Amino acid sequence: LIRGGVIAAVGQGLSTTGKVVDARGCVVTPGLVNTHHHLYQTLTRAVPGGQDALLFGWLQTLYPIWSRFGPEEMFVSAQVGLAELALSGCTLTSDHLYLFPNGSRVDDTIAAASEVGLRFHPTRGAMSIGESDGGLPPDALVEREAAILEDCIRVVDAHHDASEGAMVRVGLAPCSPFSVSRDLMREAALLARDKRVMLHTHLAENDEDIAYSLAKFGCRPGQYAEDLGWTGDDVWHAHCVKLDAGEIDLFARSRTGVAHCPCSNCRLGSGIAPVRAMRDAGVKVGLGVDGSASNDAGNLILEARQSLLLQRVSRGADAMSAREALEIATLGAAKVLGRSDCGAIVPGMRADLAIWDVSGIESAGSWDPVASLILCGPTRVRDLYVEGRAVVQGGQMATIDLPRVIERQNHLARRLI
Ligand code: ZN
Repeated sequence: LIRGGVIAAVGQGLSTTGKVVDARGCVVTPGLVNTHHHLYQTLTRAVPGGQDALLFGWLQTLYPIWSRFGPEEMFVSAQVGLAELALSGCTLTSDHLYLFPNGSRVDDTIAAASEVGLRFHPTRGAMSIGESDGGLPPDALVEREAAILEDCIRVVDAHHDASEGAMVRVGLAPCSPFSVSRDLMREAALLARDKRVMLHTHLAENDEDIAYSLAKFGCRPGQYAEDLGWTGDDVWHAHCVKLDAGEIDLFARSRTGVAHCPCSNCRLGSGIAPVRAMRDAGVKVGLGVDGSASNDAGNLILEARQSLLLQRVSRGADAMSAREALEIATLGAAKVLGRSDCGAIVPGMRADLAIWDVSGIESAGSWDPVASLILCGPTRVRDLYVEGRAVVQGGQMATIDLPRVIERQNHLARRLI
């Protein structure tokens, strides 16, 4: 029973004068939660020069293309990414936008999310060290650090909602240790604590990343993060493929969260994140589809399946169960994003629900409808509710004209090509 966007009761024979949704033949789960994405990248899927490159080479192929984006590209690509997530069962997603060419702003993606109807945690990213200063991005894509901090304050003040049931919460997210300075990392942490918002960045993604940290900072990424104030209950790091035992222990002790992005890690050949070891140590782990230039899909239930498969490749068939993968994708990820009001079907939690029709071919012959969601499918929801409002109905987007959005997206992509 849902009332005012909240689950009021769970049980049989509940009486209501409101609308009744018939979910016979379906499995109902909490909405899935996505902890890492770059929504703008849906406009640069399967770019030829980036298809087969490692992380750094991949970035250098894509930076010049992204530098031609503007507000319209940010808005439309975000709508495509958000709809793709919604259709795959996601009700709450974060986003990491760290470049702002040609007048684009975080606000463009917030406008997109408010139309699509997903709960949204955008993070104000940043890059400040360009090529001429020894960084990776071209100079045209980096910003002055004073301007970055100023805009962080503007975005938080304009959009952050700390209240329970919030539809928008903002975080601060300098892009990565190899594209911003130590000072900006430290300043961002101070600002986030002052404003009581969360911190997010990329960390320990692959071997190149570790080598960069050792060469430039003389320490491993975990140490770098700890020294700059980047550990704690209000911090989550994307990837963490290369965390060692000491760093896993640090994350567990400090309650620092991890956004595990299995498809992206496979796609870029980064490696297998030690999720089993993290979970056993008590580290908070959520799932992330990562940007659609490095996945290149944005289907969150498939990401949960991939997380299970990848742990089993490295640790054996008992390394992760289907139910654990589902837990990581819902409750686990909600905890990473600091949401104690999302991620479970329990009275008092927000009414964010995914309804999966298991009467179709993917589930035909299944003995276990819950495990089937991870092991077989379906990979698209029948219905999706956020705050008790329908976002997907009958397998179609209920909030936006998706065919028209896809047409706009393809038009923008052709222009970039
Ligand atoms: Zn990323």
